[in-house]
Formats: sequence, C-alpha cells, structure tokens
Amino acid sequence: MDSSNDQIRRQITEVLKRYWGFTSFRSVQEQIILSVLARRDTLALMPTGGGKSLTYQIPGLVNDGICLVVTPLIALMKDQVDRLRKMGIQATAVHSGLSAHQIDIALDNCVYGDMKFLYVAPERLTSEAFRLRIRRMKVSLLAVDEAHCISQWGYDFRPSYLRIAELREMLPDTPVLALTASATPRVAEDIMEKLRFTTPHLIRSSFSRPNLSYSVRRTDDKNEQLLRIIRNVGGTGIVYVRTREGAEQIASFLREEGIPAGFYHGGLGHAERTMRQDDWITGKSPVMVATNAFGMGIDKADVRYVVHYSMCDSLESYYQEAGRAGRDGNRSYAVLLISPGDEGRIAKRFEAEFPPLDKIRTIYEKVCNYLQIAIGDGAQSGFPFNLPDFCAREHLYTGTVQNALKILRQNGYMTLTDEMENPARILFCVSRDELYRIRVDRNDLDHFIRTLLRLYEGVFTDFRPINEQEIATWSGYTPQKVRELLQRLWQLRLIRYIPSNRSAILYMDEERLPTADLYISPESYRRRQELTRERFEQMLAYASNETTCRSLFLERYFGAEDPHDCGICDLCLARKRAARGKEPDMNKLREELMQRLTTETLEPQEVASALPYPPEKIAEAIGKLRDEGKIYLNGEGKITINR
Ligand code: ADP
Ligand code: MG
Repeated sequence: MDSSNDQIRRQITEVLKRYWGFTSFRSVQEQIILSVLARRDTLALMPTGGGKSLTYQIPGLVNDGICLVVTPLIALMKDQVDRLRKMGIQATAVHSGLSAHQIDIALDNCVYGDMKFLYVAPERLTSEAFRLRIRRMKVSLLAVDEAHCISQWGYDFRPSYLRIAELREMLPDTPVLALTASATPRVAEDIMEKLRFTTPHLIRSSFSRPNLSYSVRRTDDKNEQLLRIIRNVGGTGIVYVRTREGAEQIASFLREEGIPAGFYHGGLGHAERTMRQDDWITGKSPVMVATNAFGMGIDKADVRYVVHYSMCDSLESYYQEAGRAGRDGNRSYAVLLISPGDEGRIAKRFEAEFPPLDKIRTIYEKVCNYLQIAIGDGAQSGFPFNLPDFCAREHLYTGTVQNALKILRQNGYMTLTDEMENPARILFCVSRDELYRIRVDRNDLDHFIRTLLRLYEGVFTDFRPINEQEIATWSGYTPQKVRELLQRLWQLRLIRYIPSNRSAILYMDEERLPTADLYISPESYRRRQELTRERFEQMLAYASNETTCRSLFLERYFGAEDPHDCGICDLCLARKRAARGKEPDMNKLREELMQRLTTETLEPQEVASALPYPPEKIAEAIGKLRDEGKIYLNGEGKITINR
C-alpha cells in the first residue's frame, strides 16, 4: 500500500517537473492530488494564487479520459486553455461567448478526440448539446472551480451551479474535486452536500503569510501617511483606491511629490492597460495606483507593499489584494488607511448601492432595451455588454447596476460574465447563390468576398469568428483596408459584422419577460442584503480591532483551526514594545512557548519573532526548558518537544 503511494508521489512530482517545470508542490497541493487520485470526493480550500489549478490538472493528466472543469470566469478559462495547449496538452472550452456551431465542434472533439480537459461555464451545463455528449465522454474527474457559487450562503450564489448535481448522476463513477478560496464553515458544508459528496472531505491550506506584516493606520491625512510609507519601504508597490478618479488624482499627487507613479483602472483601453502594467512590472514606474481592476493574473514576486486607501467590501477582497505583496517571501507590508468618518461614509454608500426591488425591475427592462431584446426573445443567448457605457447612458451608478445584476442572476434571469477578448465575427445575410447573382460592381469587393469565402467556410449559417490580420495577409490589403471593406459589405447588407472588441457577455438564462412578470424572491433579496452587510461588518471589525493579531484575525475569518500570532503586524509589534522594559511573566512565557511547539517545530529566531516577549527572555526560557529535558534542538536546528 505504502510503496504504491510512494510510486504515485514520484509520478505526480515527475509530471509537475515535466509540464510545469516546478520542483516541488506547495502546501497541500500534493495531499489534494493524492486524495483525488484515490477517487475521493474532495473540497480544497486554498487562497487565491495558492495554486488550485494544478490540483485538478495533474490528476487530469495522469488519469485516462477527460477532466471536466466547471468555472464561471471566461477570461480565466481561456487563459487556462491557452496555457495547457502551450504545454502540448489538448484542452478546450465551452462558454457563452461562443456560437452554437463552435460549441458543437468543441464537444464533438471531446467525444471523438483525445481531449484531456474540457472547461464549461455553468450555464452551459443544461444545454441539450452538452447533455447528449457528456454521456459519451469518458470523464475521469469533475473539477468545480469557485465552488462557493453553489451555496446560497455564499456571496456569489449562481443557480446554474445547482445543476452540477445532475451531472453527478450522469457520471456516477466520477469523483469530484471542489475548489474555492472563500468558504465559511457553513458554506463548506453546503458545498459538500450540494455536490453530493459520498463522505465529507475537506482539505484546507493555511492562509497565513509569515513574511507579510499587516497594519492599520488611523489618520486625518491619508496622503501624508501614504508618502511616508512609500518613502520608508521603497521598491515596488500598489495603492488601491475605490474610484477611477481617485486613482488618477492620487497618482498625480504622488508624481508632484517626485514619486514615479502610474494609474490603472477599468476605464482605460486595452493597449493602455498593457502599457501601464508593463511599466510597473519592469520597474519603470514602481508605484501603481489602481482600482481593484488591477492585479488579476499578475505574477510579480517582489511587491514590497500594498496600501489600501480605503476599505474593501469584504475581507476576502482585502486578503486577496493585500496578498499581492511579498510573493517572493521577503518582508512586505499590507497597510490599510482609515480616517475618522470612513465607516459611516462607506456604510451609506452601501445602502445607496443596494437597489430597491422596483429599481431592479427597471434595470432589467433597461438592459433588455439596451441590448434590443424583445419580450419573449433572447433565451439562452449571449450578448456583448458594455457596462460602463450602459451606466453612463442610463445615468446609473455602476455599483447599483452590478448589485441589481447579481440579484437578477441569483433569480435565474441573466448572467453577466467577466470581460474577454472577442474576435471579430461575420455572417452572410444572403445565400451563396444569391451572392453570385448579385452583381458586385466593384472589383475590390469581389476579390475581397472571394477571399472571405475561401478562408471561412460556414459563414452562411452561423456567425463565424474571423481574423482581420489573416484576411489582410490573404487578400493583400492592409488590416485598416480590410476593416473598411467589411464595413462596406455591412452597409450593403451583404454581411452582418461584429468588429473585434473587449467586452463582457450578458447571458440570458431565460427569455425576456414583461417587466411586471419578473419575480424576485424576497428571501434571496434579503439574504443578499444581509450577506453584503455581514461581509462589510467583518471588514470594519478588522479595521477597528486593536487587540488581536491581524494575521490571526484573518486566519480565523477563513476558518483556520488554531492560528498563531504572526509577531510582525502592527499589533504584535506594539505588544512586544509594551512588554519591553517590563519584567515579563516567565511562567506565562514558558507556557506560550510550549503551546506553540505542540503544533510546529521552530528555529530559535522564529520563536523570538513569534512571541511577544523580549528576545533575551525567550532565549532564557528556551535554555531552561532544554536543561530540564522538556525540549531539544533537532537535526535541522529546530526546537522540538521531547515527548
Ligand atoms: P489559484 O487558482 O489557487 O488562484 P493558480 O492555480 O492560478 O492559483 O496558481 C497561481 C500561480 O501559482 C500560477 O502562476 C502557478 O503557475 C503557480 N504555482 C502553482 N503551483 C506551484 C508550485 N508547486 N510551484 C511553483 N508555482 C506554482
Ligand atoms: Mg483558480
């Protein structure tokens, strides 16, 4: 038994090296993979950026058959598929940004080809096309990413996730791996129940970040504090602010003070975002002032500080954003700035952003009108949706609309996906025969149409993604000219043309209803309001806490069983300072030291920084305990309890 386990461990480490080039697993990755390979239903709880993807990708590679991955984030889905393909692994995705025809092709490839990974957006699970094919696939593992979406007690509940239970019925012999970064104990239990775990099995990694020093600064002058932090800490940093205007203003304030700072927010064009991000990554502009649009998918190890100019909506967001500091393991700082009155102000904004029921109905109606969806139409279709543009036109707050859309999603009406790159698409409005009959009087158009037909089959039946660059190469025109000619064909009503863009997709789960028929369950409405408030209250509690170690506070929030003081946050340091000078209670010190050593072995220096006592007193206690034979230094120089 053991030797076969060793063999599996060797095998998965081998796969990790060969495909990813990493030398070892992080924290609980290996434990999760082994559990999945033993075909146990497993819930894995790890922080964002902790490396959850590997834990289903490696079993997916090792096992025969295909690994099915349910995830709601299309941009991440595309990113994962691209990465796998670059490693030479067959992977594909099915989501609302694709046409019915593209989905059919992708699914057929899974039935007939030797596809290893199929990523599916939850709202696609119920489609007939999917259900018919899935029975014919050999599914080795069902991975459910962002698994908290299945729980009504979770903040991001999506009714489409409940359908995963049906999948389990269709695939009775396939184990499930649920993954999430945020789950209260109640949500964790709910996930395992809703996903029909045969026996509950939760593997949780620690949320502690031993090199990250958390602190909260109360101040009347945030700018002055900010300057001080940036000048004292140095190196690369991120300053998170709430609004786009805020990002621009604070960046310009910092530049006036001689600090090379850039700004970043969702209102910038794609090219500009990339440029600003690069300037920051290369160190040309080491301070980035940004809204929470910044940071997803960015892997910069040497970020020395993350300052929050105002509070986040939840500790989940705060932990994730602050956690972008210190990935390289060196000392880093996460600072939250608070001024008197912040709490009241933010609470008020919260109320304002939570739309009353009538407003939600109005927003539903306006969204449908904006997308030109008629009553009775739109079911199971996706539409590119520009949220900022919609809000500007309708004079609505983005926050209000986002909240309304989330409530509409929870009630099963519409789902707004994340932003993604969409290729240009065309569809001929006339048949092939008609096209030849119509005399296209201009030569250049005739040549152009021929090129299109040569390159893209099937453009008569379905919207097809096209590549303007590719058309340019084959037709001999510049990409600019290609776009002009496409516009021209569009004006002649020969084709329908959607230029390439970057946008979110609004997916209609149901046909558009008359506004009066829209039913929003009061319970789901209230629950969302409560959850929003509860989450924010935890953020407030973190900010106003003046006694509990900050790291410990966060770890408890994420459900850790017995977290320890970090020894480096502002509160731990203050406690150490207070203890200095005073004669410490040696008995208490000994007790805390032994308590600490029951769960881990530590080097003497680690103990010194972890406990709130003067180092010389700690050294004294260690010496005494050693003389008494209660502890010893093991081969690695770590203090261990003598049992
Ligand atoms: P999550 O889904 O938990 O947010 P990801 O799976 O996206 O995290 O992984 C985050 C990053 O960590 C990725 O860049 C990944 O390549 C990297 N990573 C994951 N596991 C390891 C490992 N064992 N060693 C080094 N890097 C890793
Ligand atoms: Mg992930």
